[in-house]
Amino acid sequence: MRVKLLRKFIIFILLAITHHAVLAQNLYHRTLKLMGSRFDITVSALDSVAGNGYIDQAIEEITRIERMISSWDPNSQTSLINQNAGIKPIRVDKALFELVQRAIAISDLTNGAFDISYASMDKIWKFDGSMSMLPSAEAIESSIRNVGYQHIVLDQLQQTVFLEKPGMKIGFGAIGKGFAADQAKLLLSNNGVEAGIINASGDMSTWGKQPGGEDWKVAITNPYDKQKAYAVLPISEGAVVTSGNYEKYIEIEGKRYSHIIDPRTGYPARGILSVTVFASKAELADALSTAVFVMGVATGIDRINQLPGIECIVIDDQGKIHTSANIEISKI
Ligand code: ADP
Ligand code: MG
Repeated sequence: MRVKLLRKFIIFILLAITHHAVLAQNLYHRTLKLMGSRFDITVSALDSVAGNGYIDQAIEEITRIERMISSWDPNSQTSLINQNAGIKPIRVDKALFELVQRAIAISDLTNGAFDISYASMDKIWKFDGSMSMLPSAEAIESSIRNVGYQHIVLDQLQQTVFLEKPGMKIGFGAIGKGFAADQAKLLLSNNGVEAGIINASGDMSTWGKQPGGEDWKVAITNPYDKQKAYAVLPISEGAVVTSGNYEKYIEIEGKRYSHIIDPRTGYPARGILSVTVFASKAELADALSTAVFVMGVATGIDRINQLPGIECIVIDDQGKIHTSANIEISKI
């Protein structure tokens, strides 16, 4: 009897050990260019076949989103909306309709500092190095005439988007990568992936924990030296997004102009080097990081402090660090 029990026990232990060995999760990783940006996709899986399969699924999902929201592809639904500004409403996918709806809500939340209709100003501000002098005051003045999220008309029943003013344009540059990161995370976690990170050039959506059980750690880039981390913070089940002046900017007569434009003045936002926002969704963090850039340090942090579950770190152009009320960082 005793021997039998012992044997059972040993078999149980052996099973437990092999079971554990078989089920051990490993991390699989791929870096590639999607949506014109560098994406790093990390997933936990049992083996490389499964891991790579999941990464392929994420890439497919992000590519699908890119086709929907791209401003470069003349056949995307977004381009169709833009081509029909002032002409007619365009019926779009539910996902795009709801994205526009959420974007408008964020404009309301930020008093228009974040505004997807900023895009008509893209014609006068070029951040590809082709600009050697500032646009004229008149050009800026006339460019903001076509900006204003209040003129984006949604019809829930018809699922249409209509830009009221001819020449009006929308663009998802400040929210699209976060949206794509969230959607890829959602798809993979629904498909049973226990943990991962979708990093869309600094817009990170994470879920689960590292295989050892530790929280994921994210590094915040030092705005003075892109290669260096400024701080490392643990993050679980959430998103962290950094908008930085070091990514895209122009220098004219020794002054640095960021690629984030204040929709209310038509001029690039100034005074901030980088904004990092923590939130449960990368999409919201993405949009808010852009908005804080436009609102400036005091107003931006004040607004973040009013939003439950959202925190931010702002580095101003003097190198000074400002944080929202409930955040503690230890510098490395
Ligand atoms: P990055 O793309 O470097 O991560 P952001 O998320 O802040 O930075 O997005 C900046 C992009 O958003 C710009 O390149 C432009 O396409 C778009 N954009 C600029 N200003 C605004 C604004 N006020 N509201 C919404 N989108 C904006
Ligand atoms: Mg953004």
